[in-house]
Amino acid sequence: MRIGKDLIDEIVAHSRDARPRGERGEECCGLIGGSDGEMTSVHRARNAAATWLRYEVHPSDQFRIMERIEADGEDLVGIYHSHTNSPAYPSQTDVNLAAQWPGVLWLICSLEDYDIPVVRGFRIRDGEIEEEDLDVV
Ligand SMILES: [Zn+2]
Repeated sequence: MRIGKDLIDEIVAHSRDARPRGERGEECCGLIGGSDGEMTSVHRARNAAATWLRYEVHPSDQFRIMERIEADGEDLVGIYHSHTNSPAYPSQTDVNLAAQWPGVLWLICSLEDYDIPVVRGFRIRDGEIEEEDLDVV
């Protein structure tokens, strides 16, 4: 999947905004628009769960962003969230949630090392996790 460096930077910025240095913070989340094989827009959403343990895309943000993505002629191609203090790998909670959103690429931004954020992409199908390389351009 192709993704612009500026979009990766925005996901990292959102992750850090939700978890300031030295604080426990919260997981952040958002939706990603694009087309087949390319991510072209990142949209911040509120974490309705408001905790560092998990995330839940706020329903009204989800509605608003989906309308925007459609109006821009894009498709929903990805969902991102942060891990405030664990590796960039889907948790069991993430795998369970994935069943509700078939076909999207899951981006996880880890702030386990605050100064070296890691963003990785995964396909999750029928409970199986498969990493997909991000072609950052
Ligand atoms: Zn997660």
